[in-house]
Amino acid sequence: MADNHQLYKKIIKIASEENVMVNKPLKSYTYTRLGGQADFFVTPETYQDVQEIVKLANEEEVPFTLLGNGSNLIIKDGGIRGIVMNLGKLAEMNVNKTTLVVQSGAKIIQASREALANKLTGLEFACGIPGSVGGALFMNAGAYGGEVKDVLESTVVVDRYGELHTLAASELDLEYRTSNILENAYIVLEATFVLKEGDPEDIKATMDDLTFKRESKQPLEYPSCGSVFKRPPGYFAGKLIQDSGLQGKQIGDAQVSLKHAGFIVNRHECTAQEYIELIQFVQQVVKEKYDVVLEREVKIIGEDE
Ligand SMILES: Cc1cc2nc3c(=O)[nH]c(=O)nc-3n(C[C@H](O)[C@H](O)[C@H](O)COP(=O)(O)OP(=O)(O)OC[C@H]3O[C@@H](n4cnc5c(N)ncnc54)[C@H](O)[C@@H]3O)c2cc1C
Repeated sequence: MADNHQLYKKIIKIASEENVMVNKPLKSYTYTRLGGQADFFVTPETYQDVQEIVKLANEEEVPFTLLGNGSNLIIKDGGIRGIVMNLGKLAEMNVNKTTLVVQSGAKIIQASREALANKLTGLEFACGIPGSVGGALFMNAGAYGGEVKDVLESTVVVDRYGELHTLAASELDLEYRTSNILENAYIVLEATFVLKEGDPEDIKATMDDLTFKRESKQPLEYPSCGSVFKRPPGYFAGKLIQDSGLQGKQIGDAQVSLKHAGFIVNRHECTAQEYIELIQFVQQVVKEKYDVVLEREVKIIGEDE
């Protein structure tokens, strides 16, 4: 592996200096407001730059991490070694009749608003999901009866060798909050959604209704990663946690939300370690009381301090 100075020079040759930051604090890039620094934080502006950075990381054996909108991640206090890439500068959207093509750094909330603006129905479910389009494909994000799988036609991805591929949605194995994007180390660059013509008043009414439900049930006033756990078959994670008497349980400044037991909030300045300890404590208590394993939905990445 090249030393950090040589590596920096190679990265800026590809992505240019203004798109590369060294020792970049990542807290503000995550919804939990947790985590240490990235050695190199790269925000490419073209698909070609993405391809070349991936190739470089592969050839130089540098660890590579993709950070979407940080709404389903806990970054540990020691930060992330190697290259962290964020695609927020690739966020264009184009509509052609009932097809919406979106670059993966755009937010899925923006994509659902673009659909509304073009009188297209199908993406209303995503109007409050705070992820990027890439992260939404990775997780097959969904809410209130809809999910990415229902509307995704195809995607453009980069593989670990920097090669571009156009894949049909069926090739991603999209299932409940999962896909094969991680195992294939794909970087999603673009998504094509197939929607239907609709009445903008109906579309807006649905989005307003879902937003109201979300705001009244979720503790959006505190940083969090959303639902910490997947829905265990036959149960609701929040209900199991509530019935275990864990609501309000706190480790440091991490707390099981008083508003929605499926959420853990960062009350002020908690550490990633406290947040993770609380997740593990909840898993342990629910297993002891109900013999149910709560599988994490949120990803934990990075190094301990
Ligand atoms: C308040 C709140 C409410 C939420 N509500 C919902 C909900 O209703 N439904 C739901 O499904 N989720 C919900 N979430 C979780 C989260 O928004 C989704 O999982 C979202 O899809 C994550 O996208 P992201 O861009 O933030 O991904 P990140 O958290 O940044 O990353 C998650 C994973 O996706 C990968 N990834 C990101 N971008 C790409 C890309 N371009 N190519 C390949 N991999 C990529 C990352 O490498 C990482 O492994 C909620 C979260 C919060 C904080």
